[in-house]
Amino acid sequence: MQSIVFATRNPGKIQEVRQLLSDKVEILGLEDINCEEVLPETRPTIAGNALEKAQFVHANYEVDCFSEDSGLEVEALNDEPGVYSARYAGPAHDDEANMSLLLANLKGIEEREALFRTVIALILDGKEHTFEGTVEGHIIHHKKGHNGFGYDPIFMPKGHNRTFAQMSPEEKNEISHRGKAVNKLIDFLAQKLG
Ligand code: IMP
Repeated sequence: MQSIVFATRNPGKIQEVRQLLSDKVEILGLEDINCEEVLPETRPTIAGNALEKAQFVHANYEVDCFSEDSGLEVEALNDEPGVYSARYAGPAHDDEANMSLLLANLKGIEEREALFRTVIALILDGKEHTFEGTVEGHIIHHKKGHNGFGYDPIFMPKGHNRTFAQMSPEEKNEISHRGKAVNKLIDFLAQKLG
């Protein structure tokens, strides 16, 4: 069976894609190819970072691979935090600090539209493909819910009256940026690999 490396160290993300493609392709993680380097993420866009990570793995390990990059874009803040979503409040990747800073920066602002974006970059047989998923919503004033991660407690998706953190993982996956991008990748691979 053909194998493809998912360039992530998050076992939850690998497991999710593995389940959806188990009969078509073997999904490997970075540890399966003994890749211990920190993947570069130096570009100014989410799509750029997704491609940079996939290109790094492809160039150094000569494998078919894909990588994923996501972020939150808040309209009133010129689409920040964007590529800085994980390290908005500093290098510690602290979800609580990131949310507090975002709420502080939005203080007094009523225009709170926001968008989560995921881009998956795939390099298959030397060719690059990208798959994007987005979900629109707005940033509420106080945290609600305890599920999920990142900015989930303050993100209310459009057309819903619960935050991502008040939804089950299955509910969130059905409407989320990541769920949509993953589904596009899976449709593409299922067609390509028969
Ligand atoms: P990653 O590229 O998937 O690691 O996402 C980068 C950062 O964006 C995360 O550390 C979170 O701060 C934020 N983020 C991405 N996706 C989500 C989500 O589904 N919910 C909440 N925050 C997210």
